[in-house]
Amino acid sequence: MPMLAFRVATPKLLVDIGRIPGLNRIEIDATGVRLGALVRWCDVERHPALAKAHPLLVAAIRHVAHYQIRNRGTIGGSLAHADPAAELPGIAVTCDAEITAIGRKGRRTIAATDFFTGTLTTTLDYDELILEVRLPAWRVSRYWAFEEFARRRGDFALAGVALFYDLDPTGRICEPHVGAIGVADRPIRLAEVERLIAGRVPDERLAHEVAACAAETVDPQDDIHAPAAYRRALLGVLTRRALVSAADWSRGVQA
Ligand SMILES: Cc1cc2nc3c(=O)[nH]c(=O)nc-3n(C[C@H](O)[C@H](O)[C@H](O)COP(=O)(O)OP(=O)(O)OC[C@H]3O[C@@H](n4cnc5c(N)ncnc54)[C@H](O)[C@@H]3O)c2cc1C
Repeated sequence: MPMLAFRVATPKLLVDIGRIPGLNRIEIDATGVRLGALVRWCDVERHPALAKAHPLLVAAIRHVAHYQIRNRGTIGGSLAHADPAAELPGIAVTCDAEITAIGRKGRRTIAATDFFTGTLTTTLDYDELILEVRLPAWRVSRYWAFEEFARRRGDFALAGVALFYDLDPTGRICEPHVGAIGVADRPIRLAEVERLIAGRVPDERLAHEVAACAAETVDPQDDIHAPAAYRRALLGVLTRRALVSAADWSRGVQA
């Protein structure tokens, strides 16, 4: 609706997809979590098993907008809208999710890392409809955190970080995934940070190294909400916080 109000979108035809059966399903099995395109934010928040099946997803979704918008906004709408600061696209990229779409040429599945191509832009063809997003199965042994900063509660984030990893038997980080929102024209993985923390013990020293690495690795633009330098510094702080928070968890400090 805001896109229509701002005349950013001026469609000749509006199609209500709200009553297509089967698109509002949430399915959890051994392969992961599947969210149908018509699943709303509030469905994710209230689902009895999702917080356990994918705690990072649920934690991130709690930051989306306000109660009224969480009651209406959908998974498919968020992915197709592709706001670079939106939480779900960030989680999808961080978790190696897959997005399934259907169009006149048939059905196809797109890796989230390939799906977002720029600000409010995706690889979707004009005649394609998103059916669902699939997040690979979550291991309960994982340590994770989601950190974001917005000027007011419910605003789009100025920046945000999603992070998770496992620990090997010697207490070193393995298989780290670190993603960021709000600092580029699309959600991104912080590959340099992932490389930095892999094989390391998650301690205070590493947290400080991570802050510098995250800030250096991104190239945000100035906009009406914040100068680029502020966003870069903020990303460093949020990445450090995410690492500390996940590490506290691993030491049993977090509630
Ligand atoms: C004031 C405000 C604050 C917000 N804050 C946040 C926030 O903090 N974080 C956040 O993540 N989001 C935020 N949002 C966005 C919101 O959560 C919704 O994701 C967004 O408004 C899309 O809404 P919708 O699902 O009703 O999709 P629509 O508005 O109906 O559609 C959005 C676009 O996606 C297309 N589309 C919708 N569904 C599909 C589909 N299945 N397949 C293909 N294309 C599709 C539509 O054609 C349209 O181009 C905010 C929105 C508002 C208005």
